Amino acid sequence: MDFDFPNPVKIVQRTARDFARQVVAPLVPEMERSGKFPKPLIKQLAEVGLLGLVTPRRYGGSELGWLARTAAVAEVSKVSAAVGISLQVHHMQSAAVNDWGSKAQKERLLPRMCRGEFLGTCAVTEPTGGSDLVGMASTAARARGGYVLNGSKCYITNAHLCAAPLIIAKTGEGSRGLSAFIIEKGAQGFSLGREEHKMGLLGADTGEFFFKNCRVPESALVADEGEGMKVALKTIGEVGRPGMAAVSLGILEAAFDEAVKFSKSRTLYGKPIAALQAIQWNVADILTDLETARLVCYRASWLKDRGRDCATHMTMAKLYTTEAALRASRKALEIHGGCGTMLDYPVQRCFRDAMVCISAGGTTEVGKIVVSRAALN
Ligand SMILES: Cc1cc2nc3c(=O)[nH]c(=O)nc-3n(C[C@H](O)[C@H](O)[C@H](O)COP(=O)(O)OP(=O)(O)OC[C@H]3O[C@@H](n4cnc5c(N)ncnc54)[C@H](O)[C@@H]3O)c2cc1C
Repeated sequence: MDFDFPNPVKIVQRTARDFARQVVAPLVPEMERSGKFPKPLIKQLAEVGLLGLVTPRRYGGSELGWLARTAAVAEVSKVSAAVGISLQVHHMQSAAVNDWGSKAQKERLLPRMCRGEFLGTCAVTEPTGGSDLVGMASTAARARGGYVLNGSKCYITNAHLCAAPLIIAKTGEGSRGLSAFIIEKGAQGFSLGREEHKMGLLGADTGEFFFKNCRVPESALVADEGEGMKVALKTIGEVGRPGMAAVSLGILEAAFDEAVKFSKSRTLYGKPIAALQAIQWNVADILTDLETARLVCYRASWLKDRGRDCATHMTMAKLYTTEAALRASRKALEIHGGCGTMLDYPVQRCFRDAMVCISAGGTTEVGKIVVSRAALN
């Protein structure tokens, strides 16, 4: 078994690491202060090839695949998990359009998304509850050669940065009663709501969409009517969950580095606290979580690159890595004593970011339902 990345993946990983250190890191303090995504960064992400990683070459992407995408999102997230989630959600819409979109939708959207004209998004969650897809309230009723949408979406990543989001709405009843649409911003009856103030992932845009008698043509439909559940499940399950796993992997790496750095530099009783066994055990736990998370994340992506069944592995990667990042960042924070609670120390950001990653992409409980179903069937 070869655990080394293939060369193209190594190159993507190195590129993402250098980009994150040189371009993203200087933006972090202002993102933390303002909570705003720095818009010029979208073009810079495009120039370095990170927006088109999973998009076919004929639409302007590099088609480097899922292992490369996981490695890149993790590297970016180690420096800024807020930029990491923005990037991974962009890949969700790229993949959904590529997998399910018409030729015209692919030709119109994918090259623009690779060029960084906007960041992509997939809007599923509603105030009625994100875990219950079938219980969503937004409707798309057939009317004169198109559809009329009514309803709202919340907690949508890149909401204010996306020119043509993918959204899911009800066209009927039950699991075959959902359909997917691309709604161009500027469509009459489509408006943006507030920008949320989160406890973590500060600088990642999270917002609301409103639809009031929003009329769209038939060509806005993605896949067939009634296939919205399939589109949502595959996009969340195979792109969104591993994306959040990769974001959390980056947070875990950052938490580990901060824990080691502080343990070696903080002196108590005349010695660095790294000499205390309790600190050593916590560092060992963090490193073990980090190594295990790497393995589940990379294996799940490796399966998808080979076209093999991967949805359960992707969910396990999300479930394990988000919880591990939270566990590890709490330990890393505690290693810092009181310093860990001070905003001057980056470790508190790891903890806040890790907490927000638990529900984004589906909660731990929902993840356990998905994995247990696969186990018991
Ligand atoms: C930073 C961030 C970014 C996000 N980005 C997007 C995005 O781009 N697009 C999008 O559509 N959504 C997005 N979301 C929403 C996210 O997908 C939802 O928060 C998530 O699916 C949970 O939905 P909810 O928050 O409504 O919680 P609810 O569904 O209301 O769940 C509440 C609680 O009930 C538990 N629960 C639910 N069902 C069960 C069950 N069957 N058994 C046991 N427990 C259960 C949950 O685990 C949770 O603890 C984002 C969320 C965050 C925080």
